[in-house]
Amino acid sequence: MYQDHRALGLAPLSTVAPTFVSGALDIAQAKPVQPVTLVRPHAAARAARFFVEKFPGRSMYAVKANPSPELIRILWDNGITHYDVASIAEVRLVARTLPDATLCFMHPVKAEEAIAEAYFTHGVRTFSLDSLEELEKIMLATRNAADLTLCVRLRVSSEHSKLSLASKFGVAPHEAKPLLFAARQAADALGICFHVGSQAMTPEAYADAMERVRAAIVDAAVTVDVIDVGGGFPSSYPGMEPPPLERFFETIHRAFESLPISYSAELWAEPGRALCAEYASLIVRVEKRRGNELYINDGAYGALFDAAHIGWRFPVNLLREPQSTVRDHPFSFYGPTCDDLDHMAGPFLLPADVVAGDYFEIGMLGAYGSAMRTAFNGFGSDETVIVEDEPMASLYVDVEDEVASNVVKL
Ligand SMILES: *Cc1c(COP(=O)(O)O)cnc(C)c1O
Repeated sequence: MYQDHRALGLAPLSTVAPTFVSGALDIAQAKPVQPVTLVRPHAAARAARFFVEKFPGRSMYAVKANPSPELIRILWDNGITHYDVASIAEVRLVARTLPDATLCFMHPVKAEEAIAEAYFTHGVRTFSLDSLEELEKIMLATRNAADLTLCVRLRVSSEHSKLSLASKFGVAPHEAKPLLFAARQAADALGICFHVGSQAMTPEAYADAMERVRAAIVDAAVTVDVIDVGGGFPSSYPGMEPPPLERFFETIHRAFESLPISYSAELWAEPGRALCAEYASLIVRVEKRRGNELYINDGAYGALFDAAHIGWRFPVNLLREPQSTVRDHPFSFYGPTCDDLDHMAGPFLLPADVVAGDYFEIGMLGAYGSAMRTAFNGFGSDETVIVEDEPMASLYVDVEDEVASNVVKL
């Protein structure tokens, strides 16, 4: 079920209602022909509560990481009241799903029509920008509104992150002065935002970025009301186990406290990945084995874009008992489409006796997995099942003191 696609006004890929079962093994035993998406509401709820309780400011969910309305409702029910939206379709989706939510339009390059609809129809008051042209566009589209929060996006380094966001958006700190000055004149509240890149592996990423914020504020000599540290909070993947999120929060808090900003200034963050990575996984079937290569029924055009295109590794778990003598073995995957690019190098570790007809679960696909699926070549998951077992990795399980016995160690 692709409610995210439907919700965004894209082609519905299926309308099958979700069913409830307790875990991944039950599903494999039913021998599904198509890949099956598993969702874990309890994992998303836990992540939301963690950010709400521990982040020393306001956490807004970056909707692009996973725009599923069910997920967005779970986050809302667990205290996430603000949503970072980047397109008019995302604005409409969240406005329709959560009429009382606060939306912040944090794409620095927007269509004028999108700004106008967001402002006048959906009550959006917070916008980001990284140029004087965009400031003019916002003022024109909102007819010189006097109640705007304008967040100037600074360009910061992505050196501590697995996925760079350093080249496309943001004004260089030493060039920010005229824009900060102009935005200060136009705004009711002035913010500075940045994005350190996705899957930041160390809190230093934020400490370094905050130093750039400091330099820009000192240079422009403006009063700043909001510091928005963006997304980038990591999740756990094979070979990418980050330090505890509390350490990121402590570093950010310390840096925020030392900035030359107004006493009542607010601290915001825009976590995407960290709030939803644990929410979804996928059960796939092996259709063929060729040596160390497994031909599976989902891939680059399904939920595995990152595995194919940027070599991301996801945890995998065979859904049957391996023979007791069998060791783990490194595999690469081919997806189901006729495209050679539909290849995922991995390596993914599975028991060496995997054969066609076996099922395994690919974990941690809640962020940028389901969100990026296509129906290319007629393949993909058309069934979603709600499960209650634990995700294959979690940054939150120990924290909430829940039973961690069935969490697979990466
Ligand atoms: C993508 C994005 C996010 C979310 O990033 P994560 O790395 O998933 O936390 C937040 N803010 C902006 C502006 C983004 O573009």
